[in-house]
Amino acid sequence: MKSLPYFCRGEVVRGFGRGSKELGIPTANFPTCVVEQLPADISTGIYYGWACVDNGPVHKMVMSIGWNPYYKNTMKSMETHVIHTFKEDFYGQTLSVVMIGYIRPEKGFDSLVLDALITAIRNDIEEANQKLELPEHQKLKEDNFFKDPLDTPVDKTSTSTAASTLSTESKHIMNGH
Ligand code: ADP
Ligand code: MG
Repeated sequence: MKSLPYFCRGEVVRGFGRGSKELGIPTANFPTCVVEQLPADISTGIYYGWACVDNGPVHKMVMSIGWNPYYKNTMKSMETHVIHTFKEDFYGQTLSVVMIGYIRPEKGFDSLVLDALITAIRNDIEEANQKLELPEHQKLKEDNFFKDPLDTPVDKTSTSTAASTLSTESKHIMNGH
């Protein structure tokens, strides 16, 4: 996928209540304006990368890109599970992510029994954990993109304004689309 690594940032919005948190795997949802910016070659499935909330520390993440039932599956959804235990929810805050690599295609949620689904997601988290230990991935953790997400007055839901705060390297990646 030529668009990887892919940087984006946006406000955390309410999801469609599939009960991720009840399964122990909460997923922070991006608004449609962030989803709309996704390059066409980013297919549905599970990705790993780095994420931070507001000005907080950078954590490992896994992201699911799927078809959004709210929009009759005409629009994608981007749901990030940050591999960290937070004390509180962070709806309305700014989530910055870099998607680095692809783990697997989307599995039909409905076709899986719950236990198998949870096992699959646990495996994804384990794989993300291992991959992100590689030195080449640690570099992206230190990227300027994560340095001052809130210091410039950005439209919180826009990936394009966020680009103004990016390092030259990341800017290039975002402007390529
Ligand atoms: P929703 O359907 O609103 O997305 P979820 O059950 O998926 O509800 O929970 C997601 C919310 O949980 C996030 O928006 C965030 O505020 C909170 N949250 C707490 N811990 C995490 C985490 N480790 N990763 C992602 N979201 C988290
Ligand atoms: Mg969610």
